[in-house]
Amino acid sequence: MNRYFLTFAALLTAVASSGMAAEPTWWAGVARTKITPEGSYWMGGYASRKRPSEGTLQDLYAKAIAIDDADGSRVVIVTTDLLVITRDLGEAVKRRVAEKYKLPPSRLLLNCSHTHCGPEIRLYRESLHNIPTDLARKMHAYVKQLEDKLVKLVGEAIANQTPARLSYAESQAAFAVNRRNNRAADVPRLREEGKLIGPVDHSVPVLKVTDVEGRVSAILFGYACHNTIMSFYQTSGDYAGFAQQYIEEQHPQAVAMFVMGAGGDQNPEPRRKVEYLHQYGRALADAVEKVLNAPGREVSGSLRAALAEAPLEFQPHADPGTLQEQTKSSNQYERWKAHFILSELDAGRRIPRQYGLPIQVIAVGDDLMMVAIGGECVVDYSLRTKRQYDRNGGPAVWVAGYSNDVFGYLPTRRVLKEGGYEGGGHMVYTKFPGPFTETVETRVFETIERLVKEVR
Ligand SMILES: [Zn+2]
Repeated sequence: MNRYFLTFAALLTAVASSGMAAEPTWWAGVARTKITPEGSYWMGGYASRKRPSEGTLQDLYAKAIAIDDADGSRVVIVTTDLLVITRDLGEAVKRRVAEKYKLPPSRLLLNCSHTHCGPEIRLYRESLHNIPTDLARKMHAYVKQLEDKLVKLVGEAIANQTPARLSYAESQAAFAVNRRNNRAADVPRLREEGKLIGPVDHSVPVLKVTDVEGRVSAILFGYACHNTIMSFYQTSGDYAGFAQQYIEEQHPQAVAMFVMGAGGDQNPEPRRKVEYLHQYGRALADAVEKVLNAPGREVSGSLRAALAEAPLEFQPHADPGTLQEQTKSSNQYERWKAHFILSELDAGRRIPRQYGLPIQVIAVGDDLMMVAIGGECVVDYSLRTKRQYDRNGGPAVWVAGYSNDVFGYLPTRRVLKEGGYEGGGHMVYTKFPGPFTETVETRVFETIERLVKEVR
């Protein structure tokens, strides 16, 4: 039976069972695969980790949804309980998916939850962390396996497609705190007094996918906050892992997918207790549940997608004299970084001053527009994107961060000028020369503007 016959059959069923004449205009298929590494492994997140993982509190998953519009135009969204999607991994998966399933890179969105209790997959960190040889070898093997799994997962989601309806709604959850503007220790008191400061985005965008009988098959939901409740040595998807688990317990036939937002400067507070994994996971799941039962905004129209790189620039690295000084620093990361840059210069290589940041815009019909930005983008990116593009009568705007290439932090001009960890301090852990230049935010929004025009 071909899909057109199926559509027709499904249509008859839908009309017969609901009495409604509205036809399902979408096709959707979901798939999931477990990505918990076997045995003990080197964990990502927190440069201070000194030993491998010690057991599993919760398994990690990669999940995919393949959505087609009525004309067969397709988008696949992959969400993962991973710290990062590296540029190499993202590009390799996109290349293979394009070859195998004829899906162009602009049509595949790869997002990670940024859980800090999963595997390290940034291969260059082997030397930064002095990862023992056997565990480094394991990391390389895991990354290769992960690539295979993600490619296969996309194929499974496509193969599972059936007629579907999409609806969008927005909820709220309040546990994210701007970590640059509030001291962690003061958060309980400040929250109590209503005195927490700094930009936050507490919105919880929710895309509900139902089959023709009205059964929920997939629930995509987002939140802009670091998955850093725990810093222990057990595997877990952090609050996002538990939110997905709780939603799936409530809807056993559905796949719940967490899309990380622009939470670069947001922490769940208070944290560092296992009970908070459950508490915030439950809070987020409840926020999603609340709007699942409301009618929501029916999403209809056709799929359009565009992808481009925003041309970002780095400030120059320190001069060789300063770098020599830094090789004697008491800070091991500063020593590592100085050695790296000096060895590149010795080898006659130039340290690149440019970086192409992937940005992707997906119009899901006329009712929802997803803007997916690479890197650990700070919350200003979410707030400004919505301010500029979320218009009455226009599509709802969903901003995802941590998409396609999570190289490090993406500050806005304000955060860059303020400095600190997200402003530029984190660069010591990367192979990039210096902080971004002040053009960073402008470059990002010029690219977003171009892509939004393209999908309109
Ligand atoms: Zn982070």
